[in-house]
Parts: sequence; C-alpha cells; structure tokens
Amino acid sequence: MNTIAFFGCGNMGAPMARNLLKAGFTVRVFDLNPALTEPLATEGAIVTAAPSDTIAGADTVITMLPHDAAVLGLYINGENGLLDFLTADMLVIDCSTTSPECARKVSAAAHARNIAMIDAPVSGGVAGAAAGTLSFLCGGTADDVERARPFLSVMGKNIMHAGPAGAGAVAKICNNMLLAVHMIGTCEALQMGVDNGLDPVVLSDILLKSSGRNWSLELYNPWPGVMDNVPASRDYSGGFQVDLMNKDLGLAMEAALHSKSATPMGALAKQLYALHATHGNGKLDFSSILKILQP
Ligand code: NAD
Repeated sequence: MNTIAFFGCGNMGAPMARNLLKAGFTVRVFDLNPALTEPLATEGAIVTAAPSDTIAGADTVITMLPHDAAVLGLYINGENGLLDFLTADMLVIDCSTTSPECARKVSAAAHARNIAMIDAPVSGGVAGAAAGTLSFLCGGTADDVERARPFLSVMGKNIMHAGPAGAGAVAKICNNMLLAVHMIGTCEALQMGVDNGLDPVVLSDILLKSSGRNWSLELYNPWPGVMDNVPASRDYSGGFQVDLMNKDLGLAMEAALHSKSATPMGALAKQLYALHATHGNGKLDFSSILKILQP
C-alpha cells in the first residue's frame, strides 16, 4: 500500500488526510502549526516534525497549502526545495489553489527530475472535503492524472482532466470567480428580501425552487440559521476564509489581465471582498460578505 507525505492540515487538508487514512493508506503528515496534526495521530496518521521526515519512505506527496508562496517555498526553496529530496518516479499532487504560473513552474521542475506532478485544486469546500465528495480539477499529462486517481478518488467524486500543467489552476480560478459573484448575488437577494419583510428561510426555499437557484444558496446559505452545518450558522468560522477568496480573486484578475479578458463582475467581487477584509473579516468564512450589505 502506498505511503503518502501530506503537507498542510488546515481546514481542507485535515479532512482530506482523514479520508486517505480511512481508505487504508499510510499517511505521514506535516503542518507548520503542530496543533493541527496532533488530532490526526489518534486516527492513524504518522505526525512528523520536518519535511525531510515527512517524505521518509513515501512514494506520493500531496500538498494542500494556502498560496503560491507556500507551494513554491516548499517545493523549490533554493537549495532546500523538497523536489531535490524526492526520488525519480515519485508522484506529486498539489491540491492548493495557486496561480497557473506557479503550477507550471513546479511541474516543470518536477518533470526535470523525472518526478510525476499534477496540479489538482479542489472545489467543494470543507463539507466536501469531510464527505470525500470534492471535485478535483487536474492539470498535467493524462498518465499522471491516472496515477493520481486512486488517491483522488477516496477524497472526491469528480476527477476531471482540464488539460496540461496549470490547466487545473486556470479552471479553479474561473470557478472561484464565479463562486464569489453568485455568493455576493445571493447575499444581496436575501438581504433585500428580509429588508422587505420576508423570512430568510421562506425566501431561500422559494429561490431554491426558482431560477435564482445556485450552489451558494443550495449548499452554503450565507444567512445565519437558515441551514445547519454551514459557516453562517457558526459565526462564519471553519469554512473558506475571506483572505483565501481574496487571493483567488487576485489570481483571477491577474489571469484576466494576462489574457485580456473582460471580467467586470469578477473585478467588482474582488473589490467587495478586499473591502470586507479591511474591516477585519479576513479570517471569517467568505459567506460573511453578507455583513457588508447589512446596516
Ligand atoms: P488553511 O489556512 O486552513 O490551511 C493551510 C495550512 O497549510 C495551514 O494549516 C498552514 O499552517 C499550512 N502550511 C502553510 N505552509 C506550509 C508548509 N510549508 N508546510 C506545511 N504546512 C504549511 O487553508 P484551507 O482552507 O485548508 O485551504 C488550503 C488550500 O485549499 C488553499 O489554497 C485554498 O485556496 C484551497 N481551498 C480551500 C477551500 C475551503 O473551503 N477552505 C476550498 C477549496 C480550495
């Protein structure tokens, strides 16, 4: 059975590592914050204190890190980059949301060492990570995606090949730009309905059965108390942070600039999320954007 070196055990990484453990893989975990890996030890993970220890005996590396700097810092860090310590024929799967350039850079450096690598950012949120129902948006060769499939299929239900290295990252930032836009639109509609005397539960139900139906409304209602088990019903904690959404919208705007694409809704969403973060909400779940519309 494969041994996986798993880096980044935050909101997403911890439940993903848990599903790999449940499937019987040996999982060696590392996070810069040791408090996040300790609970995984009771579920069978081997907790490690440094990356050199994490990769000992591993044939597969999975990363779930916050941003480009963390990914590049881990894999290609001058003379201490992890890629220099991996052996040829190992498989690297980066599930972090990064820029396409970051994904292509790590992929090129990995392939130069005969290490297989795919970018495989995810969609589905913390609930999807816990349930093992994530969607993986993969960039890389078809062969490398097939090699990754046994690992990805225990953490998710949709494994989609978007194209060559970096294509998973492109697909991911397109998705998250759309997610930001429909989350803000959902908040606007709910707030306007409540301001006009409607019950948010009743309005949510109506919208779900009407043409305003969307993922935010169906699975991630931003109005506190409308749905159980979503961040809005626990003070916007434990989900997808505003800071991370801002990062993704920044990546989307960079990509749009590069490709000369018109993204007026994405640009407005970026401005609203940036404003929300400056009000001290960066660590809250992204559905807290509702607050910006409230008195
Ligand atoms: P998080 O901040 O909860 O977790 C990231 C973890 O990585 C932190 O615990 C941090 O300590 C750790 N880390 C940073 N650098 C490290 C390193 N060099 N070695 C080991 N650990 C390191 O973030 P998250 O919500 O789990 O998101 C992780 C990634 O998944 C991000 O790229 C995010 O954009 C993406 N994502 C998140 C969600 C979501 O709903 N939270 C959904 C889809 C995609």
